Amino acid sequence: MSKLEINDLHVSVETDDGPKTILKGVTLTIDDGQTHAIMGPNGSGKSTLAYSIAGHPKYTVTGGTVTLDGQDVLSMSVDERARAGLFLAMQYPVEVPGVSVSNFLRTAKTAIDGEAPKLRTWVKDVNAALKQLDLDPTFGTRSVNEGFSGGEKKRHEIAQLELLDPKVAVLDETDSGLDIDALKTVSDGVNRFKSKGDKGVLLITHYTRILRYIKPDFVHVFVDGRIAEQGGPELADQLEAEGYDRYTKSATV
Ligand code: ADP
Ligand code: MG
Ligand code: MG
Repeated sequence: MSKLEINDLHVSVETDDGPKTILKGVTLTIDDGQTHAIMGPNGSGKSTLAYSIAGHPKYTVTGGTVTLDGQDVLSMSVDERARAGLFLAMQYPVEVPGVSVSNFLRTAKTAIDGEAPKLRTWVKDVNAALKQLDLDPTFGTRSVNEGFSGGEKKRHEIAQLELLDPKVAVLDETDSGLDIDALKTVSDGVNRFKSKGDKGVLLITHYTRILRYIKPDFVHVFVDGRIAEQGGPELADQLEAEGYDRYTKSATV
């Protein structure tokens, strides 16, 4: 099972002028094996939703619930969320000088599984994951995120996704800054993850182009901290043609 349920979620962020409400009642269920795309204009709160699910300390949940297979996610620590089966790429966006990609992945895998992976199969798995993502085997020896290009950061994210094998993945702007070849490689990785079955994916993106490679079952349009519209994949095609104008115009009147 892998069911992520977000119900009437309200979130505020601490700013210099005090708390600011960003999410104003978000309700969304990602059922077993479903891929949901969240699209929307810049500043609409998409990343805030991702950070809130991840348990980022800057974001305060002021109302609503988030559960994974019925377990209360909001009362879990960041580590507990990962162990429960949530993958949030932006959990580790920082540079970790002196920690190699290989060691980082092994530490993360050990923390999530509660035991260290068997070395022989692990090395094979890591090398296979890097290769499939068109990353050089020496990538494993580099310090995490230190001097990574935008594309390398995203490929590293997807390597984590494949190796850590969560139940539900929240991917925020996984497509940003990728050229077309990298976009295909990264999308293939997400699709390999999906093909394991029962996996939930919440794909957050401003642009429609990644949805040509990763097919969503549902598309939600996020405007001003709320879902303004939802539909099937055809909604993404419509957004590609029309942009977000009609939502943002009505939101500012
Ligand atoms: P999106 O990902 O859709 O572009 P965000 O969730 O990043 O939107 O931001 C939504 C709104 O919340 C924006 O107005 C942004 O300025 C504000 N915001 C988000 N995080 C912070 C923060 N840490 N401090 C202050 N304002 C924030
Ligand atoms: Mg933004
Ligand atoms: Mg964002």
